[in-house]
Amino acid sequence: MGVADEVKSRLDIVEVIQGYVPLKKAGRTYKALCPFHAEKTPSFVVFPESGTWRCFGACQTGGDVFSFIQKRENLDFADALRMLAARAGVALGPQPDETPAEEQHLEKLRAALAAATTYYHQQLLHYPQAERARAHLAKRGLLTEVVTRFQLGYALDAWDAVLTHLTERGYALEDLEAAGLLVKRDDGTGYFDRFRNRLMIPIRDVQGRVIGFGARALEDAQQPKYLNSPQTPLFDKSRILFGLDAAKQAIRAADVAVIVEGYMDVLAAHQYNQANVVASMGTALTETQLRQLKRYSSHIVLALDADEAGARATLRGLEVAREALDRESVPVPTAEGLFRFEGRLKADLRVLTLPPGQDPDDVIKADVAQWQKSVAEAEPLVDFYLRTALADLDLGAAKGKSEAVRRLAPLLREIADPVERAHYVGRLARLAQTSEETVRQAIERAAREEGRARKPAARREASPGPKPQPAPPPQRPVREDYCLTSLLRGQTPLARVQSDLYNLKARPLGADDFANGENRTIFLALENAYLDDGGRLVATTQARLPEALQPRLEALLSLAATGPAMSDEDAAKDLVDSILRLREERLRHSLTELQYLLEDAKSSGDSESIAHFGQLIRSQSADRDQLQKLLYSRTLQGRRQAMTETV
Ligand SMILES: [Zn+2]
Repeated sequence: MGVADEVKSRLDIVEVIQGYVPLKKAGRTYKALCPFHAEKTPSFVVFPESGTWRCFGACQTGGDVFSFIQKRENLDFADALRMLAARAGVALGPQPDETPAEEQHLEKLRAALAAATTYYHQQLLHYPQAERARAHLAKRGLLTEVVTRFQLGYALDAWDAVLTHLTERGYALEDLEAAGLLVKRDDGTGYFDRFRNRLMIPIRDVQGRVIGFGARALEDAQQPKYLNSPQTPLFDKSRILFGLDAAKQAIRAADVAVIVEGYMDVLAAHQYNQANVVASMGTALTETQLRQLKRYSSHIVLALDADEAGARATLRGLEVAREALDRESVPVPTAEGLFRFEGRLKADLRVLTLPPGQDPDDVIKADVAQWQKSVAEAEPLVDFYLRTALADLDLGAAKGKSEAVRRLAPLLREIADPVERAHYVGRLARLAQTSEETVRQAIERAAREEGRARKPAARREASPGPKPQPAPPPQRPVREDYCLTSLLRGQTPLARVQSDLYNLKARPLGADDFANGENRTIFLALENAYLDDGGRLVATTQARLPEALQPRLEALLSLAATGPAMSDEDAAKDLVDSILRLREERLRHSLTELQYLLEDAKSSGDSESIAHFGQLIRSQSADRDQLQKLLYSRTLQGRRQAMTETV
């Protein structure tokens, strides 16, 4: 996560904007008179769930917390970041002169791990001693293709195999220890190999760089069965999802991520083309892990062991997260079974309970279609909670009943949608064989206890009975990242993009097309770089950007390097299409928001707002229709149709 994202995730956009403009709660949003133009009817809206704001009045603009501060304080991105980082308590990274040294050190560790990966992999493929490991993989039915793709390996049954191999190649002992490959002897007389006689599974970061290993025992007597790399500067179990580098595209394509427990489950899934599967590292799911997944899809399925111990462990994990992380990271159910972490990270979390005694590995191998069906039919987390949180209680006894209600009341209380809440209140009442009234009272009690436990912000106190409302549209920066990436690739000059848009009677591409504050700033730098020197585009853009934005630029550039090769003509069309689609998407989101604002105005009988939003809906619908027509005319089918019409 970049530092800007970190800042965003820690700040409450409502609180930040509240400091400049008095906001009024309206359903799930906050409204105010726009601070950027003079108006009588509030058309400035803040969407806390997506962390965005928008002016539906004369400005017709919006963005994230950075763009608000930039606009309001008249700051450039770097200064806005500095200001908000200080407020969020986020350190802006090491001093500039420290960065290269630290990065060099990490680079050294990565190189050592990469060399070890190759070494272990060669051992597995070619060494007679690795027979046992090969037999294990064969028994598992793992194909060579997967073994090669994931670069599985074998660590010899020796104390100094990797030590000798890597020190001969110039790696320092301290670095090998820091990378988790060697262990220092207790008496300080030297080092030895951490991994011996084990099947080696490289664990990679999201960019595909090896950062550690999972090492499986090959003899029954070996303990533990799985030995992981220790915590190192690169390897932090709580932040890693095994296989995410290989799974991310499939997750995006399927728009669902499946989390399993074992490495082998992930490997089997890939072998059977179920590539949207990752593994947690044997820890309770953390917010950081969810946040990473959420970049690819907000639909997350947890595949759990059927045995009760396993289910209870997961449940406990979620409860621990709930209690320990409190406001930092609370998984709470929202309407429609969605779960949000920290009030900003909304995810649809579901649970897939496996048949007794089976791992995902077994299910996938036995019947891929059954696996897909199970994923599609996974149970919403609230239902799972209801079922499992009560499993150890005797609901026939009075004590069991009251305990059941006590355990679940805080959870049900958090369900914002009253219809949804009523549904679960009814279910809990039936399960605990008590009255709905009793459950409701328990929920109110839980609310009062929580109210005492934490000092609620003003807007939390004002919590009128919420009415069913559509959730604001999710923030989808993916498309705009893609547009920016294509521009950075430089194949299609900005001037070409602008002239194509002009010919289509569409407005030129501008910073306002980018909702993400970082993207916006990078676009402006790029635009200026074109004015400066079209020849050294990336270097000039880079030079124009503050330090804090370099990581994001690099991420976009590495994305640019992976794109498919296209002819100049195709690249230009692809880019212009993406821009048009980005605008169309944004209009659709805006219309959803407006629809919801209109409902809100109607229910409060605010006739001026009703007229205002109604008019906006009409004009934006027309814009959307026009864009959709334009996009269709640019598809092959659309062009064919146009040709037959003119003939
Ligand atoms: Zn405005």
